[in-house]
Amino acid sequence: MRYISTRGGSPSVSFFDALLTGLAPDGGLYVPETWPHLSAEQLRAAATAPYAETAAAILSLFAGKDLSMKEAIGLTEEAYGGQWANPGITPVQQVGPGDYILELFHGPSLAFKDIAMQLLAGLYGLALERRDARLAIVCATSGDTGGAAVEALKETDRVDLFVLMPKGRVSDVQRRFMTASGGDNIHALNIEGDFDTAQAIVKALFADKAFAQEVALSPVNSINWVRIMAQSVYYVVASSALAIAGPVNFTVPSGNFGDALAGFVAKMIGAPIGRIMIATNANDGIAKAFETGTYAKSAASLATLSPAMDISVASNFERIVYEAVGRDPVILKKLYESFAQSGSFDIPAPALAMLKQHFDAFGVDDQETRWALADCFEQTGEVLCPHTAVGWRARFGEDEITGARVLLATAHPAKFPETVDSILGQAPGLPRHCADLFDRKEVMVDMPADAGAVKAYIRAHIGTSA
Ligand SMILES: *Cc1c(COP(=O)(O)O)cnc(C)c1O
Repeated sequence: MRYISTRGGSPSVSFFDALLTGLAPDGGLYVPETWPHLSAEQLRAAATAPYAETAAAILSLFAGKDLSMKEAIGLTEEAYGGQWANPGITPVQQVGPGDYILELFHGPSLAFKDIAMQLLAGLYGLALERRDARLAIVCATSGDTGGAAVEALKETDRVDLFVLMPKGRVSDVQRRFMTASGGDNIHALNIEGDFDTAQAIVKALFADKAFAQEVALSPVNSINWVRIMAQSVYYVVASSALAIAGPVNFTVPSGNFGDALAGFVAKMIGAPIGRIMIATNANDGIAKAFETGTYAKSAASLATLSPAMDISVASNFERIVYEAVGRDPVILKKLYESFAQSGSFDIPAPALAMLKQHFDAFGVDDQETRWALADCFEQTGEVLCPHTAVGWRARFGEDEITGARVLLATAHPAKFPETVDSILGQAPGLPRHCADLFDRKEVMVDMPADAGAVKAYIRAHIGTSA
C-alpha cells in the first residue's frame, strides 16, 4: 500500500515513510492511494475476536507488504496487552435501549490517544531497528497527547522523546503523566508560554532543516496517518458487535477531527457504520461549516472545559474534504491555498452534500457541557469526562436516526477532577493502575520560550539513555 499527498505535489511513500514523516513535503496530508477492504469473514470475526486480532487485520491491510502477518500480530499483542486496565481494551457500556458508551480510556494515560500511541511505539521500534537508526521525537502538547506519547515510548529503544508543555497550563494529572514516567529517554520541557508558543517552537525546530537532519527529528502529532488507522479499529470492533438492527451510529467529541475521521476510515474498509456525529465545543468551526458551507479558522482558540478540543483549525479536516471533492488534489489545493490566504474557504456544494451524507456536526458551549455531564449522571449513573459530556449534549441535536448509537468516551473523568467536582460535587478517583501517580517522582526541565535553547537541550540529550 502506497500513501499519496492530498495536495498532489509529492511522490507517493511507503507505510513506514508515512509513519516517520508526518506532513507531506507539499504541505498536504498522506492518505492511502486506494481504500482496502476487510473481508466479510474478518468483519464477522471482529465482533468477538480479541482486540489485538482485529487490530492486526487492519494494520496488515494498510501496511501491505511492508509488514508480515506475524509481525503485525506481534505488534498488536504488545500494544494491547497487560498495560490496559480492561482486557476488552475498548469495552462498551449499555446505557439505554440501543444506546451505548464506548470506553476508550482504559490505557496507561487514561485518554483515547493511548490506543494509537501504544501501537505507534512498536512500529517506531521496528522501523528504526530495520533502518539501524535513532529518532528524536518532539511533541508540543496541550495535555493528553504528551502523556500518551510518554507512556508509549518510555521503553522504546532508539527513541528520545522531547515533550514541550506550556508551563502551568496543564492539569496536575496531565503533567504527572509526562514528568513521572521514570523513562530515561523521556524529556519533559516546561516552556515559559502557552500551547501556541510551544507549537511555534516545534515548528521552528523543523524549519531548521540542518538541525532536523542532524538530530533525526520526527514529529508525533495528530495528522500522522498511522494514528488515524489505529483508531479505526475500535469503530470496526464496536460496530461489528452492535450491528444487529442495521448500521451503527457514532457520536465523537472532536477537536482536530482525527477521531471522527477514523470512523469514516472504518466505514470505508467495510464496517457497518451509519451516521457519525461530530461534537465540538465552543471552538465550532466544523459545526459552522456544516451550517453555512464555509469553513473558517477562528482568530484564536477559546479556552473551554474540554481543553483537548480547544483548537482553531481542525488539521485532519483536510483529509475528509479531499474525499468530499472526489479525491481531486487540484480542487483540494485551491481550497487550502485560499484557507492559508484568507482564513476560510467555501465547500463546493456537491462536497458539502457528500459530507452531510456521512456526518452531522453540532457545537456545544460550556454551560451545556455542564448540563450534559449532570444529565448523563442522573440518567445513567455514568460519570463522563467534560469532552465526552460535549458528545452527550450533541446527541440531542441529532436528526431522527435508526439503529444503535454509540458515544465515544475519550478520557477518564479522573483526568479532569476539578471540572467534574464543580458539577457533580464529587471528584472521581484515579483507577487502580495509576493510583500511585501522585507518589511518583517528577522530572522536568524549565525552558525559556526560545527555539535556540530547546535545540541546545536536544543536542545535549539525544542518545544518552541506556
Ligand atoms: C484529543 C482529544 C479529543 C479530540 O480528538 P481529535 O482527534 O483531535 O478530534 C477529544 N477528547 C479528548 C479527551 C482528547 O484527548
